[in-house]
Amino acid sequence: MSSPEVKKQVEEYVEWQCRGKAKVTHSKPEQTYNELGVNVTIWNVKTDNDGSWWVAQGDLPMNLYSQDQAYYFSTDEVFSFHLGLMLRLMNDEANQPDSYIESISPGVELPLVLRRKLSLASEKLNEAIEIEEIQSIGVICRETLIELIDYIYNSDSFDGKEQFKKSDVKNRGELVINKYLTGSDNAELRKHIKNLLNSAWDYSNIITHSSSKTKHEASICLTITIAMVSSLENLLDKYFDPLSGLKCKKCGSRRLIIAENDKTEDLLIICENCQYGFIKE
Ligand SMILES: [Zn+2]
Repeated sequence: MSSPEVKKQVEEYVEWQCRGKAKVTHSKPEQTYNELGVNVTIWNVKTDNDGSWWVAQGDLPMNLYSQDQAYYFSTDEVFSFHLGLMLRLMNDEANQPDSYIESISPGVELPLVLRRKLSLASEKLNEAIEIEEIQSIGVICRETLIELIDYIYNSDSFDGKEQFKKSDVKNRGELVINKYLTGSDNAELRKHIKNLLNSAWDYSNIITHSSSKTKHEASICLTITIAMVSSLENLLDKYFDPLSGLKCKKCGSRRLIIAENDKTEDLLIICENCQYGFIKE
């Protein structure tokens, strides 16, 4: 399949991956594969400023592979690698608990797909030797960040929402962080969380495209990504927890519980320490 629309998608994807520093000068579908029920077309894409790329497009998530570094000599090799990587990404069996992700807060229900991706990345990291395996850790981290921000972005309303694309993790992320961490009290934390998101995003892109990084850098990339997921979970927990930041108005204790309130929809908060009750709207 190579409708003008798909061609445009492929070109936009490459220009986005080149972070706006290069323009596509040529693109054409080189070969189409249909194996194990999935249809994938390998595109040959050339840019003015950032070399040539193979782009795998079709039923699986899109991804690109460099033609200038001699890892992928033919479309067959690109297809095999892409299929293996993406099938593993989508394989539910790969969901095994791992010490890497145990630190993620259990309170907020983020989609299982995020946990699965991070489990997969840590599993792959253990076995990673070849450069493609190192790069695939970056790919997974990047996808995780896109999905993370997209999930939160689509479950609420944000100012200026329409103008950012799904892949615009930094700008979408900024709106998300501004919304859930408001006010001057949170200014410092807001800054740190934004920095963390930008670091996770930039470094995932570096790992994805670098031909010189090792398992150790990939491990750092995964660690930063997990820290970002965990931080956003905690942020949402804080935002949606009706008791967050509250103290008993009588004794100052934070040992508060939410009691049944038959009379109104406002929350009835009871202090476990002194039994004082008060209403939170
Ligand atoms: Zn009290």
